[in-house]
Amino acid sequence: MTINRRQFVQGTLLGGLAGLVPVIGRAQAAERVVVIGGGFAGASVAKYLRLWGDDRIDVTLVDPNPNHVSCVLSNLILTRQLELSDLSFPLSELDSAYGVRVVQGTAVGLDTAARQVQLDNGQQLGFDRAVVAPGISFMDVPGLDSAKVPHAWIAGSSTLLLRNQLDGLTAGNTVIMTIPAAPYRCPPGPYERACLLADNVQRAGGGRVIVLDANDHIQAERETFERAFSELYGDTLEYYPAAQLEAVDSDGLRVFTSQGEFSGDVVNVIPNQQAGSVVRNSGLTDGRWAPVDPVTYESALQEGIYILGDSQGTSQPKSAHMASSQAKVCADAIIRAASGMPTHHTERLENITTNSACYSPITRDQASWLTANFALDQGTGNMRLSHIGASDGWDRESYRDMFDWADNLFADVFR
Ligand SMILES: Cc1cc2nc3c(=O)[nH]c(=O)nc-3n(C[C@H](O)[C@H](O)[C@H](O)COP(=O)(O)OP(=O)(O)OC[C@H]3O[C@@H](n4cnc5c(N)ncnc54)[C@H](O)[C@@H]3O)c2cc1C
Repeated sequence: MTINRRQFVQGTLLGGLAGLVPVIGRAQAAERVVVIGGGFAGASVAKYLRLWGDDRIDVTLVDPNPNHVSCVLSNLILTRQLELSDLSFPLSELDSAYGVRVVQGTAVGLDTAARQVQLDNGQQLGFDRAVVAPGISFMDVPGLDSAKVPHAWIAGSSTLLLRNQLDGLTAGNTVIMTIPAAPYRCPPGPYERACLLADNVQRAGGGRVIVLDANDHIQAERETFERAFSELYGDTLEYYPAAQLEAVDSDGLRVFTSQGEFSGDVVNVIPNQQAGSVVRNSGLTDGRWAPVDPVTYESALQEGIYILGDSQGTSQPKSAHMASSQAKVCADAIIRAASGMPTHHTERLENITTNSACYSPITRDQASWLTANFALDQGTGNMRLSHIGASDGWDRESYRDMFDWADNLFADVFR
């Protein structure tokens, strides 16, 4: 690499937006923006609306939890190298540092005519514009009881349940994991999980990890993971492509797939994914995900509603880094729209870019990485992949860089 990775990551966190931010005139009334979801997308857009909006944007952020627990690095909870508390970020910091009003609650619907968000406690929050960023929800799997068969794909209690189950492994045990059909949250994440499960099994005295992938092949860093599966974990890990999940026996710990039936001592089912429930219940989807204009992230179906992060349906990867990158494009667009400035077809807006980065621990002290840059294609109006970078396998330096990158991202989003 010609530049050091930390400089690269710091650069890409603000990629493409330098000089774009409009200034709102002081005479205008404050624009009320309600943000649903305080994860990587929602916390970022709330922070940058306040930071760039010059007090003229009044931001209310709604989340059921006082802290956001990061999925990024959460596979290290399974290896007991990190605790949930290491990955928990109090949303109250966005209030004290930027004046974001934080409301604890679950949004259950959006009344787009009345311009109100409805919360589960009956409260209504009025808005001029709403940003919806609730992450993912899971599609139904017959027989799946997540209290017995955890997904650990939304970090929190499910991650701890899987860790406790893994703690009970003994020599000769079998762990089964399923990989959802793309697109899903974090393209390399399931393969990274497979490596760390195999590491856990080896440390417990040896056994089997059966990886049942709904996709025809490894979805990210294919060469790296194929090598890791055979060179590091060849005596433990069995990889089955094109294994569609059909049903689960949650008491008997059996998994039924298009490739046959498998039984294990620990079962980690990561179901197929779709936009968060509030996005789906509010008429913002046209399939599994919500269509948006990538110049603003405004819904293609409802004016004045913006959808960010894993719920939105562009071809950009569903990652935390990408969610934060999109949030800055959206914050800029909302400030422009609120101040009567153009949101489309200006010379500067032709240069919109977004970025994604994922680090994958392959062992307990070595990692790989993958970056992807996207640029607006003026012809189609879509974001297109403009550059992809990947590590050559895995190493200790990348493992150390992973924590620097994550610290930068966490600080950029939550502090
Ligand atoms: C194991 C693993 C490893 C990963 N590694 C990486 C990585 O290396 N790099 C990377 O960039 N990404 C990584 N990711 C992906 C990343 O975590 C997600 O893409 C990212 O969290 C998406 O951001 P989001 O804001 O859309 O959703 P989230 O971050 O999940 O935030 C959604 C928020 O919305 C809230 N919410 C949900 N419903 C409602 C509602 N109805 N009302 C109010 N609030 C609501 C939730 O409580 C949550 O706080 C990883 C994911 C996993 C599972």
